[in-house]
Amino acid sequence: MTHLYSSCTLCPRNCNVNRLTGETGFCGETAALRIGAAVIHRGEEPPLVGTGGSGTIFISGCNLGCAFCQNYQISQGEKERLGRTVTAEEFTKICKALRDKGAENINIVTGSHAIPTIAEGLAAAKNAGVQIPVLWNSSAYETTEALELLKDSVDIYLPDLKTLDSEIADKFFNAPDYPQTASSAILKMIETANTKEKVIIRHLILPGFLESSRTVLRWFAENAVGRAQLSLMTQYTPIPNRKRPMPNRFITEDEYEKVLGWLEEFGIEDGFCQELVTGSEWLPDFNKQNPFSSELSVPVWHFTSQT
Ligand code: SF4
Repeated sequence: MTHLYSSCTLCPRNCNVNRLTGETGFCGETAALRIGAAVIHRGEEPPLVGTGGSGTIFISGCNLGCAFCQNYQISQGEKERLGRTVTAEEFTKICKALRDKGAENINIVTGSHAIPTIAEGLAAAKNAGVQIPVLWNSSAYETTEALELLKDSVDIYLPDLKTLDSEIADKFFNAPDYPQTASSAILKMIETANTKEKVIIRHLILPGFLESSRTVLRWFAENAVGRAQLSLMTQYTPIPNRKRPMPNRFITEDEYEKVLGWLEEFGIEDGFCQELVTGSEWLPDFNKQNPFSSELSVPVWHFTSQT
């Protein structure tokens, strides 16, 4: 499948660069798979955390590049995106290490720009005995063709639906086509998974942009009720010292209550609501061996590791 990198149109950015020869497009990554960290994570939705935690692998680079990305140290930047290239063997080793630490699943975070390599890596890990479910945790800025490559490797989809407002998508992600692309991608995931337990659509409330949340909830009510679960997230955190424009505060209790009221109005019952977050405890630091707090995660692999 690596030929898909030779004139890359893997995602809607359609950069047409040859990543096999080291060229890079919007995502900033060549054909080599790079990883920032792998941890046992306890901050995902309760069924994904279970008792053992979620075996989360943070892929370096990103094809969307949100202004307010909490993982910006590994996902963005002209030159320095933290992470290290891993071979196929190392990828399997990381999956095994997560399983051996008790992970309930393998949770691939933001791998949209590396789907061919990850699909092959997951198949190899499965052949090597890693039989726990695989989660695809993405921005949903993905083509349906690329998602097709994942259908034999992924068990549970965890897409964001960030906004359905093109102006917001343009302003914060430079992707005015995000609403159309992400909604089509999510419908594809729903069809592929074919059961509501296997699709959790995440929506992060943006401070000051409540109408965007209302539109997303309406879309969910019309397209996904009974076919997917909703995860309403409140952990928006302004990122200090970043130059890109972004809301510069946390969401307020009033905003939170308003959105909760809309869940009732739209009859959305299946899913999860994060408690109101008003501090920076969710902001990771990928320079640390454990990028999160010790309550949230246990480190298993870091880009500075030798294996
Ligand atoms: S995966 Fe990367 S290089 Fe390929 S089209 Fe998307 S942003 Fe461009």
